[in-house]
Amino acid sequence: MRWSKEHEARWQRLSDEVMTGIKEWRVQHPKATLREIEDALDERLARMRARMVQDLALTSAAAEFSTAVPEERPHCPQCGCTLEARGTDTRSLTTTYNQQITLTRGYAHCPICGSGLFPPG
Ligand SMILES: [Zn+2]
Repeated sequence: MRWSKEHEARWQRLSDEVMTGIKEWRVQHPKATLREIEDALDERLARMRARMVQDLALTSAAAEFSTAVPEERPHCPQCGCTLEARGTDTRSLTTTYNQQITLTRGYAHCPICGSGLFPPG
């Protein structure tokens, strides 16, 4: 996945949701304490942050295999030869404010010694 206009539009939508959402929340909670305001805002920002992390991670991971020339592809930590793409693997992570991130990324495989490597990060 490369960076696209769709990402751009999605990020715009995400930030609009945060801005609009917190303004509406404030109207509904006119007597909120500073602490409650911080929590409400942090929770919304955390959701946006998680989506941004996910998009950024997927974009860079995909670029490693789909657009990199062979010399720029990752190398096998065991024997040093160039790794080949081999299917995808999905993993779930929990980031700040308990937000779930799901990453589906290419799994690298060494054609010589058979070592497998999930791109770091
Ligand atoms: Zn190897």
